Amino acid sequence: MMAHWWNRRTTAFALAIVCAGAVNVWCLRSGRNLGALASLAAALLLGGQALEKSEGAQEQVAAGMPASAALAPPARAIALMGPARTGARNQATNRATDGAAHFPEICNAFTIDLEDYFHTEVSSRSVGYEQWDRLPSRIEATVKRLLDLLDRHETRATVFVLGWVAKKHPALIREVARRGHEIACHSYRHRPVFRLTPEEFREDTVLAKAILEDTTGAPVLGYRAPNFSITPGTEWAWTILAELGFLYDSSVNPVWHKLYANPHAPRFPYLIREANLFEIPVATWRVLGMNLPIGGGAYLRLLPLPYIRMGLSYVNDMERKPVTIYMHPWEIDCYQPELAAGWKSQIRQNWGLDTMEAKVAELLRGRRFAPIVKVHAENLPLAAPATATMGQESFARAS
Ligand SMILES: [Zn+2]
Repeated sequence: MMAHWWNRRTTAFALAIVCAGAVNVWCLRSGRNLGALASLAAALLLGGQALEKSEGAQEQVAAGMPASAALAPPARAIALMGPARTGARNQATNRATDGAAHFPEICNAFTIDLEDYFHTEVSSRSVGYEQWDRLPSRIEATVKRLLDLLDRHETRATVFVLGWVAKKHPALIREVARRGHEIACHSYRHRPVFRLTPEEFREDTVLAKAILEDTTGAPVLGYRAPNFSITPGTEWAWTILAELGFLYDSSVNPVWHKLYANPHAPRFPYLIREANLFEIPVATWRVLGMNLPIGGGAYLRLLPLPYIRMGLSYVNDMERKPVTIYMHPWEIDCYQPELAAGWKSQIRQNWGLDTMEAKVAELLRGRRFAPIVKVHAENLPLAAPATATMGQESFARAS
């Protein structure tokens, strides 16, 4: 198959990517930060272009057309122009071609961290916990918009809910569950684990889990720490999660990050034997010995979509592994109030809000996604067979 769609133009792109990558490594080693950034951007953009070419060619070859006719831009590249172009007809067409031709077996996990715009790490610098009650909430409208988007793409997700939100908006959380999504836990007060003592972490988690289970009447099996904050030194949190009845954790993002650096963590799901708990890391793309972030959130908002798609395709097609993607409801809300923050924080929270919905729609198109308990159903019973079955049964509506 590869020989059919690999052509001179793709080869030229590949050579350009290799050159840009070599320049990037040289700049990094010699401390030329601007040069490193520019060469990285060039490599990503070239890679995205090459992927578009190769995927477009694959689609045409799969449809019986010669590879030479496959150089025209693929139809789904156009869909990024706006949500209006991502209708049911396009979706059905792309599912019939992309889904069947490219990703016949791999089903990825789609996850949402359900919190309001003022719960984020950026907002926490200007808004305290005691002020949350007085801020205008936008979560009802944005979550319903996000649920509609998922419905249009026949996708069910794992929704990690902040306990505070479930207490304030129980009907909304029940609607999320009623529409077939898995409800999981995102702490109660959105404090990073590395700032808590084990006792504080246990207290916060017990409260959040109890509220969520009272709200939906179903067991909560999964946990995600705010800011992917189970980092080296806080492994004790896994033991506590297992003791509280969780089957899996998804709090590791194995990339370098100023706040939650964890670049040496495993990239794929694994059993933490000491805790009898599954860890399901967020998606990364291994390039030149580094883990590049492709898991969603701000990376999806701020980086070119071809780069994200190329990384996901690499993991699905070359490494033959499912990925875990994440996002927040406030990331599709470009009318959220801007809170006082520095320029870097403003970029992290407010840039890319107006295009995020179209990007997510494009990701959902032609790629299979499901809740974590569905994607990893074969692994989770290893941790606790009895309750894993309960979790799966409660998502009978999920595809
Ligand atoms: Zn969060």
